Amino acid sequence: ARTFFVGGNFKMNGSNSSIKEIVNNLNNASLDPNTEVVVSPPSIFLQTVRESLNKKIGVAAQNVFYKPNGAYTGEISVEQLKDSNIDWAILGHSERRTILKESDETVSLKTKVATEAGVSVIWCCGESLEEREAGTTIEVVSKQLASLKSHISDWSRIVIAYEPIWAIGTGKVATTSQAQEVHKAIRDWLAKNVSDKVAEETRILYGGSVNEKNCGELAQQPDIDGFLVGGASLKPAFVDIVNAKQ
Ligand code: 13P
Repeated sequence: ARTFFVGGNFKMNGSNSSIKEIVNNLNNASLDPNTEVVVSPPSIFLQTVRESLNKKIGVAAQNVFYKPNGAYTGEISVEQLKDSNIDWAILGHSERRTILKESDETVSLKTKVATEAGVSVIWCCGESLEEREAGTTIEVVSKQLASLKSHISDWSRIVIAYEPIWAIGTGKVATTSQAQEVHKAIRDWLAKNVSDKVAEETRILYGGSVNEKNCGELAQQPDIDGFLVGGASLKPAFVDIVNAKQ
């Protein structure tokens, strides 16, 4: 069975004091031991969070560059993450794809370089509102997956996050059937294009306006293996989302 997984994406939020509070809260919380938890603070806080957070909880960068070092102002390398004991990265988030103009190719390259160096990746995909309304959701997600597949061979370090863009930060969560339908399509795509084993083992998370109230029903869906949480990951209620399966 796939281990339930809950990621907290802080995005560009938090200060030294507010993040310290989040860390203390998580260190003192009673978290479902059967759920894998990873939090992702802004890069400036990665190291202090890693040093102060319970080691059972993983820490993820929100981005990583695909070059090993050199003249790439503003970027962070995979080796630098590893040197700070950060062994996860969120890649391909829609905010980076749209606002920072990252292409499928860039996201795939970053994912390849990270996973090959031993950094696990929460790889994000999802459609815009226009694409959903045009009925092209599965097509859009399949295209993103195809780009990833053309760059990587080892899927064991990948967790997929399906995040419909229209549900992110809008309070408009996908219905359980909308989410389950796309998760199932992603799993079927993996079975057809990669292998039955990868389809069976890969965790597929849902992200987009997940909160402590709507997580329970979503967590019951057969192909929803956890969540990638934005806004609610900054609040004490994140613990309830981690414990959604209990
Ligand atoms: P919200 O939970 O704030 O909608 O954000 C979801 C998200 O983008 C997580 O990566």
